[in-house]
Amino acid sequence: MSDFDEDFDFVIAGSGAGSMAAGLYLRSVGKRVLILEKTELVGGSTARSGGVLWIPNNPFMARDGVEDSFEKAASYLDSVTGGQDDAPAATQQRRQVFLTEGPRMLAFLLEQGIELDRPGYWPDYYDEAPGGSAPGRTVVARLFNVNELGAWKDKLRPSFIKLPGDLPGSIEEMRQLPHMKRSWKFKGTLVKIIFRGMVARLTGKRYVGGGAALQGRMLQAALRAGVDIRTGMPVSELIIQGGVVTGVVAEKEGRPWRIGAQLGVLVNTGGFAHNQRMRDLYQPGTSTAWSNASPGDTGEMIEEMLGRGAAPAQLEEFVGFQATIPPGQEGEDFKQGVQGMTASPHAILVDQTGVRYMNEGGSYMAYCKGMLERNKSVPAVPSWAIFDSQYMAKYMLAGTMPGSEKPSQWYDEGYLKKGDTIEELARRIEVEPGVLKATIERFNGFVANNRDEDFQRGARAYDNWLGDPLHRPSQTLGKIDKAPFYAIPVVPGDVGTFGGVLTDEYARVLREDGSVIRGLYATGVAAGSVMGRVYPGAGCSIGPAFTWGYVAAKHAVDGSEDDRSGQA
Ligand SMILES: Cc1cc2nc3c(=O)[nH]c(=O)nc-3n(C[C@H](O)[C@H](O)[C@H](O)COP(=O)(O)OP(=O)(O)OC[C@H]3O[C@@H](n4cnc5c(N)ncnc54)[C@H](O)[C@@H]3O)c2cc1C
Repeated sequence: MSDFDEDFDFVIAGSGAGSMAAGLYLRSVGKRVLILEKTELVGGSTARSGGVLWIPNNPFMARDGVEDSFEKAASYLDSVTGGQDDAPAATQQRRQVFLTEGPRMLAFLLEQGIELDRPGYWPDYYDEAPGGSAPGRTVVARLFNVNELGAWKDKLRPSFIKLPGDLPGSIEEMRQLPHMKRSWKFKGTLVKIIFRGMVARLTGKRYVGGGAALQGRMLQAALRAGVDIRTGMPVSELIIQGGVVTGVVAEKEGRPWRIGAQLGVLVNTGGFAHNQRMRDLYQPGTSTAWSNASPGDTGEMIEEMLGRGAAPAQLEEFVGFQATIPPGQEGEDFKQGVQGMTASPHAILVDQTGVRYMNEGGSYMAYCKGMLERNKSVPAVPSWAIFDSQYMAKYMLAGTMPGSEKPSQWYDEGYLKKGDTIEELARRIEVEPGVLKATIERFNGFVANNRDEDFQRGARAYDNWLGDPLHRPSQTLGKIDKAPFYAIPVVPGDVGTFGGVLTDEYARVLREDGSVIRGLYATGVAAGSVMGRVYPGAGCSIGPAFTWGYVAAKHAVDGSEDDRSGQA
């Protein structure tokens, strides 16, 4: 007699980015699949996110005439992620599998009726590198009417993408809105959004965008295909029999519930962004208070796998998200980002001595690493975003619209510093006035020549994409020379951690000696990323996570027999 309370072919812990892709594949070949989600909401940080997948050589690029190929993408990944000897999950073999299986995974999702598309232009983060793509390799889900989920509609974790008035919109539209007063094209976007919102209201639709659209569509397809999905059921333990993972212990109504998994267990439980103990251990100097990851991101399944002999991979890594936290928003769910801010004209980032120290336009991972690295020699956490009245008039600030009056609390509590001269601003942020003045004069000189000689901001398509699409001659460089001058603090926040256990080219979890923990797979940020310690483009967390979920499911069906019998 089975010593399990229930039996399935495959059990997935966590409803993250690879979970439903894996579930759908297993259902497509008639297997019984269970997804166990700890929180009451489905979708994890993936649903909360922008929902962007980085999948090179995808069919939407071909449709739009954007050149790409396996070889071109491989050359890009080799150039930006190759040679990381201290990143065991970033092997060339795994890169090649990702590049082969990613487009297959997408084709499979499209067959399953998941409506995806290519957003317009979204450059790779190192588009200047060999094989880099300036138009970009990203894929997103089309807006989704969450009411189609019926009884599940309130079980989907919301995305951070919110347009004013709660109007439905995409991440691209959200990026255009701040500029609408200055462009007829973007005014047109607003009209489109309002019209769509009105029609939705009249027809009883509730559209969501970003990660909620992606995970909403995946949830709908998974439920239709018969994937069993249960919320409020945390997995606490792996069951290992004869050296093979054969199931999990979950918690059901406060009691342990043993569930068998004949073909294996996939761990897709996210990272440890909200576990300060693990952060202090692996990522000292970072804080749960700066994270935008979903609340379930507490790392216990990573610890469970490590405790069962899994090898660690890149646990020091996190996907940075340069953040600023205005007073009154400390405990709030969403931490305001400044990614576009310091890459916009009329703004720079300086350390606590008033010195500029990076290309403010680079990838958010490189940016936040840069802050922590700088902080080792010069106080730089927090750093200061410095900007002038031109910035204030034209661009968003910590979630407020361009030109809007800022809350008086921001000034009163010393969050938003203001000076009629650069020297006065410097004194307010306790920086030597001559140093800040010299930093700004040097930067303004670069702007005049349209060339950042210190950090080459603006030399990449990506830096410019982050800036102001309407600013000329540079989208990212603009002088800081119109009083008053301002500063706000910036911290190295994150959208999640980016290291976990080591997995192989089939997403199987490996031990330190390279042997396979049979029956155990991991995807998403519970596993070390195939990208290692670099973030090559938008969607480099979710794209690979979907892909490895799909790869794990295929292996569980086709190759796990050998694993279980010990012939792997
Ligand atoms: C605001 C924001 C925007 C972002 N935008 C993008 C983007 O556009 N593209 C991109 O690639 N990345 C983006 N990221 C990062 C990305 O969202 C995450 O890195 C990624 O979603 C992690 O996916 P995952 O599958 O590993 O985990 P998740 O999607 O977080 O899913 C893990 C799930 O497992 C559950 N869980 C945890 N422990 C247990 C347990 N013991 N038992 C059962 N369930 C458990 C969690 O509650 C959660 O629901 C963004 C993140 C944020 C916060």
